[in-house]
Amino acid sequence: MYDQIIDKDNKNSALSVSKGKANPVTVNNNFKAVKRKELSADEYLKGITEGNRTVLSRAITLIESNLYAHSILAQKVIEKCLPFSGNSIRLGITGVPGVGKSTFIEALGKMLTAQGHKVAVLAIDPSSQKSKGSILGDKTRMEELSQDENAFIRPSPSAGSLGGVARKTREIIVLCEAAGFDTVIVETVGVGQSEVLAHSMVDFFLLLQLANAGDELQGIKRGIMEMADAIAVNKAEGKMKEISETAAGNYRNALHLFPANDNGWSPKVFTCSAYSKEGIKEIWDCVNEFVTLTKQNGYFYKNRNEQNLRILDETVKQALLDGFYNNPTVQKELPVAKDDILDNRMSAYIIAQKLIDMYYLSLKK
Ligand code: GDP
Repeated sequence: MYDQIIDKDNKNSALSVSKGKANPVTVNNNFKAVKRKELSADEYLKGITEGNRTVLSRAITLIESNLYAHSILAQKVIEKCLPFSGNSIRLGITGVPGVGKSTFIEALGKMLTAQGHKVAVLAIDPSSQKSKGSILGDKTRMEELSQDENAFIRPSPSAGSLGGVARKTREIIVLCEAAGFDTVIVETVGVGQSEVLAHSMVDFFLLLQLANAGDELQGIKRGIMEMADAIAVNKAEGKMKEISETAAGNYRNALHLFPANDNGWSPKVFTCSAYSKEGIKEIWDCVNEFVTLTKQNGYFYKNRNEQNLRILDETVKQALLDGFYNNPTVQKELPVAKDDILDNRMSAYIIAQKLIDMYYLSLKK
């Protein structure tokens, strides 16, 4: 369309008054080349806490960047935002592709923004880098919500490893909370490890299911059902309503067989329709009921503390592993060590200890 308006060759433009005189510039073609002034950590903090979405987006881009200088600044920004974070309900939503996650989030998100809530939607999708058209990432998703000024939708960071995606998502949660979002929805695909990570950063975990599909078919493992604080059988409208109720009953029975949670909460099962919006309010009421209960009995805070301590633990482990495997001595000795194991020359335990000894020795040099 703009091609028609902007006459690139300047031949027929009504705006050209004489030969050789340039058209008024309507589009800055050099825009990409113009370098934006980098903000300081304090400027980021100010913008974010004032709810400036452009600054929030830029800060997130900083977190997602793999440049060393960016990561240093990003850490400063996160540190400054931390005291302003933590005040949201963090809701995880998982389910196989096609179950209706984005339609559900759109319906829930619109309901919440209409009530005056500010909703951030983040995704954990480790496939987003490998397959450009990722499982969670097509553009038409949540069309209405993405235009809502009280909603903020950010696709999954493409950080390479799942651990990297998880870390960046956790950091983005901090920024969103500092920006005043009181509901943070973390969406993930329930087919692999990503839901375990999503579970480790939310307060409430909702599993969307479909009636009429065996669990094997849905690729949902028992472990994911065990993590769920609620299960909702989606697409339960019209003639699917009854069959969805039956499926919900089956899930209720199955959940009874799981060991009781230590948070005083018994997982609930719902039917809903992201299309007709039936059941959405009930699910949100359930989230609130859970938050009230677990804040009263202390589990809400205990869970967040444990999540933070786990991050400490995981980060230390990862750093130690990286240090070990990137160490030049280890890199030189490892192939030899592997051959020794494969040729049965020495036990793997002894070789592991030798490598660790070599590693520590190399650090002293
Ligand atoms: P996702 O891959 O889990 O994010 O699923 P989508 O939200 O993209 O939905 C997959 C398909 O199911 C789309 O064609 C939706 O329009 C449809 N869908 C989502 N929710 C419902 C629902 O409540 N009822 C019906 N009938 N279809 C739905």
